[in-house]
Amino acid sequence: MQTKIYLDEESIPRTWYNIQADLPTPLDPPLHPATGRPVIPDDLAPIFPKELILQEMSQQRDIPVPDEVREILKLWRPAPLYRAHRLEKYLKTPAKIYYKYEGVSPAGSHKPNTAIPQAYYNMKEGIERIATETGAGQWGSALAFATNIFDLECTIYMVRSSYAHKPYRKSMMHVWGAECIPSPSTKTAAGRAVLEKDPETTGSLGIAISEAVEDAAINANTHYALGSVLNHVCLHQTVIGLEAREQLATVDSYPDVVIGSVGGGSNFAGIAFPFAGDILTGKAEGTEIIGVEPAACPTMTKGLYEYDYGDVAGLTPMLKMYTLGHEFVPPSLHSGGLRYHGDSPIVSRLVHDGIITPVSYFQNEVFAAAEVFARTEGIIVAPEAAHAVKGAIDVALECRKTGEEKTILFCNSGHGHFDMTAYDAYHAGEIIDYECPDDLIRESLSHLPKVR
Ligand SMILES: *Cc1c(COP(=O)(O)O)cnc(C)c1O
Repeated sequence: MQTKIYLDEESIPRTWYNIQADLPTPLDPPLHPATGRPVIPDDLAPIFPKELILQEMSQQRDIPVPDEVREILKLWRPAPLYRAHRLEKYLKTPAKIYYKYEGVSPAGSHKPNTAIPQAYYNMKEGIERIATETGAGQWGSALAFATNIFDLECTIYMVRSSYAHKPYRKSMMHVWGAECIPSPSTKTAAGRAVLEKDPETTGSLGIAISEAVEDAAINANTHYALGSVLNHVCLHQTVIGLEAREQLATVDSYPDVVIGSVGGGSNFAGIAFPFAGDILTGKAEGTEIIGVEPAACPTMTKGLYEYDYGDVAGLTPMLKMYTLGHEFVPPSLHSGGLRYHGDSPIVSRLVHDGIITPVSYFQNEVFAAAEVFARTEGIIVAPEAAHAVKGAIDVALECRKTGEEKTILFCNSGHGHFDMTAYDAYHAGEIIDYECPDDLIRESLSHLPKVR
């Protein structure tokens, strides 16, 4: 009975899969926040390296992974694919459950898959420093690891409440040589403006984004980096699904159902796009692709597919995506990585076209699923990843009813070793099942930017 499917290092993908090449019609372009016109590469050049801007807009199907990037990915890739025998037995399901485990990366999540190429392209362009924001600290720690590898400096604006409550993610950033500053800070005009109005503010991801972008825009040697949402980030994550497809092929298998958690959409894009591409190009049919989000931040299940800003202040380009409105502030969730008001434009498009089915779950049922997983498979997953676990368990239980022997594949995007206070809260019965009221969503959606 095989439990882990490993590939050798030669099997790390040599190209990323760009699903833009296989969309029936091109994506709606990002629009400039001031003019409302499509963004051109020059607009982005002050904050991103040229190669990433090209990838963002590229229509080329297979984009080469640079050798220097593949060499670093070898530190943990190919990531193992597990068959969840013990979970299947516990659920008494005829389904076969496989999961791709991204928690084996140095930072403990899928995020280094994009942090490494992003740091690499910046280094190649002669950039000396990268500024970014982080909420719970997963992206900040991944980027700190990556910038250290390529000898870049790194400044991370960490949402002040997390800075206080998640000290160990900050410690990881320090070990890898990055500077981690609680946001809002006095280092930027954006931060000072917020502090002047409200010195006791807990901060927010929107404010931290504004600080990092300002830092990159005014310092010539500094660029900005984003850990999710954008097309090039989703592109880099396709190593997850490309490897998984090859691993399943070694046991003559192909998934009937593919599942991932959706915050900004990057780990889900990573596992799902190669299989969605198989559908779009007629190589597969009937594969069900499910994106799981929290009921407290129901972007795909209750949002609108419209143009919206990426940040609270309305300074970023407008993206056509499922959104709850850029002013939407979800409740403080233990799955901090799933609180974004919008979603990847490509994931959104595939939801809109019916290729992806979105579902939402409450926090307590998600933690209950995570605990079943920990007690059967052993791995204590990140609360974000637990959403995918819950999705897989529900499909497997449905199979028990119908007797179908479906093959389920899900992305286990990271471990939860720095999230134990969330598990403690679950055991203490302190996790609240918050469902976002419809009138709150309607109010927030009434402030979408007007686009001609
Ligand atoms: C950041 C994060 C997520 C959510 O981000 P996506 O871009 O939607 O993947 C999910 N799982 C883990 C472990 C994360 O760190």
